[in-house]
Amino acid sequence: PPPPAVQTFWKWVSGEGLISSKKSPVKPAIVPEGLGLVAQRDIGRNEVVLEVPKKFWINPDTVSASEIGSVCGGLKPWISVALFLIREKKLGEESMWRYYLDILPQFTDSTIYWSEEELSEIQGTQLLSTTIGVKEYVQSEFEKVEEEVILPHKKLFPFPITCDDFLWAFGILRSRAFSRLRGQNLVLIPIADLINHNPSITTEEYAWEIKGGGLFSRDVLFSLRSPVSVKAGEQVMIQYDLDKSNAELALDYGFIESRPERNAYTLTLQISESDEFFGDKLDIAESNDLGETAYFDITLGQSLPPKMIPYLRLVALRGTDAFLLESIFRNAVWGHLELPISHANEELICQVVRAACSSALSGYHTSIEEDEKLMEGRNLDRRLQIAVGTRAGEKKVLQQIDGIFKERELELNELEYYQERRLKDLGLVGEQGDIIFWEPK
Ligand code: SAM
Repeated sequence: PPPPAVQTFWKWVSGEGLISSKKSPVKPAIVPEGLGLVAQRDIGRNEVVLEVPKKFWINPDTVSASEIGSVCGGLKPWISVALFLIREKKLGEESMWRYYLDILPQFTDSTIYWSEEELSEIQGTQLLSTTIGVKEYVQSEFEKVEEEVILPHKKLFPFPITCDDFLWAFGILRSRAFSRLRGQNLVLIPIADLINHNPSITTEEYAWEIKGGGLFSRDVLFSLRSPVSVKAGEQVMIQYDLDKSNAELALDYGFIESRPERNAYTLTLQISESDEFFGDKLDIAESNDLGETAYFDITLGQSLPPKMIPYLRLVALRGTDAFLLESIFRNAVWGHLELPISHANEELICQVVRAACSSALSGYHTSIEEDEKLMEGRNLDRRLQIAVGTRAGEKKVLQQIDGIFKERELELNELEYYQERRLKDLGLVGEQGDIIFWEPK
């Protein structure tokens, strides 16, 4: 039988008329992923398994309408909901949300909850720097809200609230709030948030939607469908997000997938402020929806993002190639950057990227081979499995990027460059490819 807290929660949910526990196609249960939703009968593909009325949602509107609404006005949506959750949890018996709060996990395997020792397993990874960045962000937001809201309103917050409380709430929202809903940027939906992720479900459509709210319709409902058919007794699951990388899954939910496309690495490229053509380069980048700094997500097994090489060529443009930056070329320059500019320019981008890859690769404390050996072992602790999987994945992507530019370096003499293309366009290149006439401009 499910633990008492889950039974109490389920009773509350049925008692409040949120759900009819007898008729509901699903019920909460203990599953390998923690709590989950298990089918009480056979469920068909796309069948609705839950409908949760708006009055059971927890979102910034819930906070506004609550006792602390008046002091949460200017806060970021997630901060106000976090504060609300923490306060309701500390109110204990007095909170109408207590049965829900009692079944929320204390923590997940998200890297934001890892110990120093566990974090040392992701040394050198982008996941580690993101994790540190996120924790610093939560800390600084906590300090602000502590000073501006919590401490000045002792009556509303008559108990200590710590940064760890905030990290708990942040993790809860990150792992279970539904976002991207029409007009709903951040909402916790009790019961619906018990649904776990199944990597083998790859349907693009969202399994949830908001229904009702029209002039003559009933209450607004959050409606959850099962994307696949499920037999009685099996767990109903969904695909959380096909677009997240393993690092994002690890940070948000505390699990990763083995599919190669989940492995990604973000290359950050930049036009240096000390570049003598800084202004022109920035102008060109901005006309192409890029900026002084540009981020390119590279995915294992997939080609480079289309704007990456043109941007690299732009960043590296100098010397005799710099005439392309002149304003008369402004409309055509991106088109030129999509093809090799000169031997020197192309060689430079290869060198820069390869140096960046090898520097990044030297920051990890294990090799891919060592990681793969560990993964074969299978008995890895869940967090270690996340660590080993992400660090191996990042390294594979870096090796892939290095490989692409290594190959390019070997082709430098066979590529066709700007001047040659231009001569061809002007009809100034003979059949054998030798230049018959060229007058410098
Ligand atoms: N299992 C959750 C619970 O006990 O409350 C309910 C789902 S909640 C929306 C998301 C969390 O469930 C994740 O952060 C993770 O801890 C867990 N989870 C969901 N799907 C998982 C999976 N495929 N593998 C491992 N953990 C999973």
